Amino acid sequence: MGYVLVATENELQDRLANGGCRVAAGMTDMYPSGQLPGSTESVVDISQVSSLRDISCTDGAWRIGTTVRWSDVRVYPWPAGLEMLAEVASQVGAVQVQNAATVGGNLCNASPAADGMPVLLALGATVELWSVRGVREMLLSDFITGVRRTALEPGEYLRAICFKNNEDAVASAFCKLGLRQYLVISIAMAAGQLRCDSAGCVSGISLALGACSPVATRLSDIEASIVGKPVSKSLIDEVTAERVASVISPIDDVRATAAYRRDAAVHVLRDTLARLVEAVA
Ligand SMILES: Cc1cc2nc3c(=O)[nH]c(=O)nc-3n(C[C@H](O)[C@H](O)[C@H](O)COP(=O)(O)OP(=O)(O)OC[C@H]3O[C@@H](n4cnc5c(N)ncnc54)[C@H](O)[C@@H]3O)c2cc1C
Repeated sequence: MGYVLVATENELQDRLANGGCRVAAGMTDMYPSGQLPGSTESVVDISQVSSLRDISCTDGAWRIGTTVRWSDVRVYPWPAGLEMLAEVASQVGAVQVQNAATVGGNLCNASPAADGMPVLLALGATVELWSVRGVREMLLSDFITGVRRTALEPGEYLRAICFKNNEDAVASAFCKLGLRQYLVISIAMAAGQLRCDSAGCVSGISLALGACSPVATRLSDIEASIVGKPVSKSLIDEVTAERVASVISPIDDVRATAAYRRDAAVHVLRDTLARLVEAVA
């Protein structure tokens, strides 16, 4: 196995065009999980490509470069409606992990327990992908195709994650449940964003659940049942066990049983909604 540290996107693109290499960023997933390439492949380390490490916003359109670290996200001055990005960033491992681990790596690793997934899913994020064949954009929900599976094609890399922030977004929240409070992989997590009209009714809501299915999922039925209603604690009653169970497919693993996750999913979702309502009231 070879190792190449590239300094620019041009160098990265030349390497990928020639084939036989795998992109790596913080390596906090790749190295511990032993997914290092075999003897005929090289690791191309993109962690020092500064053009890929930028958070920007133009006319409400946000762009997070793939090698933005979770520590960059944690300290960024996000506006109302995007606070959950700082919140999730502060819960991805410890500070040492956050200093190396990237947002792009979290998505490309496609773990069901990737904390970034429900947050970016709730924001309706898209991903920008590059290969010699051109640049393509797709919804994040289409990009993650299964457990550790993405729509990335050979020679392609994730360049940026993009989303629009609605101007009427008033609050967002991320809730994570693990075996302990900090430094823990999620058993279940939920993220949501609430938008309100001038009459105090919900003009829009997005809710997503992670670690309860092979791929994180949006709760469209629950979202639809909440829109138009006054913002009040009674919205939490819309999160029923039946509605949640109909969109998730939890598994038994070392962290929790499927039955526990089914129950936990309802609780983290209710907690998330309660926090959104409280932020507005
Ligand atoms: C101690 C510890 C604690 C952790 N705690 C958490 C946690 O609480 N929550 C959580 O979600 N995760 C956690 N993680 C996992 C990990 O830190 C995150 O998922 C991180 O965001 C991965 O980013 P990375 O840059 O290190 O990815 P890497 O390990 O560099 O890459 C991961 C995968 O993505 C691919 N890849 C990376 N970037 C690109 C790109 N631009 N284009 C194409 N493919 C790419 C790589 O080939 C590899 O397959 C933890 C890890 C450790 C070691």
